[in-house]
Amino acid sequence: MKSSILMIYTGGTIGMKQDERTMALVPVDISQIETEVPELKKFGYKIDTCSFDPVIDSSDITPDFWVKLCRIIKENYAKYDGFVVLHGTDTMSYTASALSFMLEDLAKPVVLTGSQLPVGMLRTDGKENIISSIEIAAAKDAEGHPMVPEVCIYFESQLYRGNRTTKYNAENFRAFRSANYPVLADVGIHIKYNRHLIHYPERWDIPLKIRDKIDTNVAILKIFPGITPQAIDAVLSTKGCRAVVLESFGSGNAPTGKAFLSTMKKWVDKGLIIVNVTQCHAGKVDMNAYATGMGLKGAGVISGYDGTTEATLCKLFMLLGRYSSPEKVKKEMQKCLRGEISGV
Ligand code: ASP
Repeated sequence: MKSSILMIYTGGTIGMKQDERTMALVPVDISQIETEVPELKKFGYKIDTCSFDPVIDSSDITPDFWVKLCRIIKENYAKYDGFVVLHGTDTMSYTASALSFMLEDLAKPVVLTGSQLPVGMLRTDGKENIISSIEIAAAKDAEGHPMVPEVCIYFESQLYRGNRTTKYNAENFRAFRSANYPVLADVGIHIKYNRHLIHYPERWDIPLKIRDKIDTNVAILKIFPGITPQAIDAVLSTKGCRAVVLESFGSGNAPTGKAFLSTMKKWVDKGLIIVNVTQCHAGKVDMNAYATGMGLKGAGVISGYDGTTEATLCKLFMLLGRYSSPEKVKKEMQKCLRGEISGV
């Protein structure tokens, strides 16, 4: 039976072309995507499309948008073999992270992709990104199961686990990086799937659930030499704030001075969940490695291991939406829920 794919267009550079008269960038009509990417016809797959209305620049993405996206996937889950989401690159890692936590028991591919140059431009990277994403979303193994039943990002010949990615380049075609987890597939002459790195469900017939209660009462605090207790207080006293992603130095280190640590402890004692991730682009938090990390641990800060800021934030959004008890949220934060952290 021929594979069927639903391509969901949300906005971003990928879906743009130049208006011939004004030369301004305008969104393409996604139902006519085969005009821009005629290669799609050669697949012989059934490729249906749907579009957000209006389409948005991904800087305007909100959690309501993630909920809508999850609902579209859930409503169409039985009808399609896989989903390709065309999305702006700026917040793609946030959306991929959020979807990974919101879609529970996912057993089909959800591949996000975008481009640095509009699909309607001559040198676009968008065409290849769309074509390979479709091929990956449709790929099955010998038993007929999807090759990559995960939320992923495909970009510039690499397939990443979505919640491990960060956008790190605003200029190059290779815009994303997954520093702490190897690529799920490499695309060259052949698509080489690294099957030992891909997560496969124990059972394929469990119905998809969506966790669509999101609580965004989270702040991010990046520490720097000279940070004052007042600056920390200003962020952590944000009305309604329930959790903080603390971007620390190196392997999870922070100043050992009494003023800093007692400020942290004060907020932990007030019930705030503080999760320690590193501001380095690769590597992990180990709060036992140095006295500077032990100080944070002693203050009640918990480890975010090797998670990205994007994934840690979105995991907190989902868990805070689901649980009112900070202790329960902390406990779940220490578990690897969707392959977002290692070594726990
Ligand atoms: N600003 C655009 C967006 O994220 C950039 C892009 O698509 O690459 O929607």
